Amino acid sequence: MSPDVGEIAGVAVDLDRRDPLAGLRGAFTGTETPLVYFDGNSLGRPLRSTAARLERFVREEWGGRLIRGWDESWMELPFAIGDRIGRAVIGAAPGQTVIGDSTTVLLYKLVRAACDDARATDPARVEIVVDRDNFPTDRYLVEGIAAERGGRVRWIDVDLSGGVTSAALADAVGPETAVVLLSHVAYRSGHLADAAALTALAHDAGALVVWDLCHSAGSVPVHADAWGFDLAVGCTYKYLNGGPGSPAFAYVAERHQDRLAQPIQGWMGAADVFAMGPAYVPARGMRRFLSGTPPIVGMLALEDSLALIERAGIDAIRTKSIALTAFAVELADAWLGPLGVTVASPRDAARRGGHVTLSHPAMRAVTAALWRQDVIPDYRDPGGLRIGLSPLSTSFAEVADGMARVAAAVRTEAGGAPTLAR
Ligand SMILES: *Cc1c(COP(=O)(O)O)cnc(C)c1O
Repeated sequence: MSPDVGEIAGVAVDLDRRDPLAGLRGAFTGTETPLVYFDGNSLGRPLRSTAARLERFVREEWGGRLIRGWDESWMELPFAIGDRIGRAVIGAAPGQTVIGDSTTVLLYKLVRAACDDARATDPARVEIVVDRDNFPTDRYLVEGIAAERGGRVRWIDVDLSGGVTSAALADAVGPETAVVLLSHVAYRSGHLADAAALTALAHDAGALVVWDLCHSAGSVPVHADAWGFDLAVGCTYKYLNGGPGSPAFAYVAERHQDRLAQPIQGWMGAADVFAMGPAYVPARGMRRFLSGTPPIVGMLALEDSLALIERAGIDAIRTKSIALTAFAVELADAWLGPLGVTVASPRDAARRGGHVTLSHPAMRAVTAALWRQDVIPDYRDPGGLRIGLSPLSTSFAEVADGMARVAAAVRTEAGGAPTLAR
């Protein structure tokens, strides 16, 4: 192995010493243990302060304020936390971001609202454009919407190690496009789409765009307003550390809000929630994108992680993210390349999000072996080991240690034959 593990451990110590965000890692639960966590892109670690926040909420707010809590603060919490995500994470002015349902449900609501809107203006616009390697939920829900509205899905073919390019999108959009649904960072390859350019291209074709920000929110800067976004949805349990199943956020540009009608008409989206009137009248602004009672307990952890992101700054987070993935790619080339492993993520840091996918036929077994020894990446077919490097909670030493153990596991699981995958 060259360079050797000891030498790289020294390099990692030095990188950690020079990392301006290194001090924030200790704010996360579990970072004092030797466990290597390479899956913060799928479920972020909890902050230590969250345990106390949840305990206090149960005792004082839920337990003490009881139903009064809704009037006192909970009704406004989805909007307050939404605005905070808007400011610190996605570059959105206040009044355009709200915490709502799961990502899947919010995507459904927004894509369908956008489809109906496009078609109302121009009946020829019946197509939803989506790429074949978009996240499963995105692909499934557009097929459902197309079936239920008598529309069509227009598929974009993509390279599994890359993502949607301007040329590919230009071929797919036209006078029949209603909506384009794209992921900012591809969940498999980590490809970072040029969101500003792709949005402009879709707009030139007269279409609306819905951005899925699940794998970028909290690790890659987003400038929703400046890039001309129409609509976006993002996860909060990945780089935003909201906890398993924490509710997603929706962004709707102010210019579209009062025109769009989402399909799940519930009382929490009504103009006067407690009027309990005979018919649904949608609220103005972001409230109309809500449906039922907001999941308050599920959004509490975000208060802690957003405070940390505000302290670090999203640009510094991105700088560290690039340094972490570049280090992982360098070690993959040095230690895993000779074992037949290939890097199935963009090598250009400007086109790469916060994770790196390593490809080899033995990766499913490698992942299982690593989990048994407390090294936690995840696995995505075909043969992809995803190394997710959450910038605030991951150290360079953790990357060096983890990558050495990935190499050892590949050697064992692939039977020690370096030429196996060729
Ligand atoms: C994680 C993820 C989702 C998850 O959707 P849920 O409704 O929270 O299960 C959706 N889209 C992308 C791109 C994701 O990475």
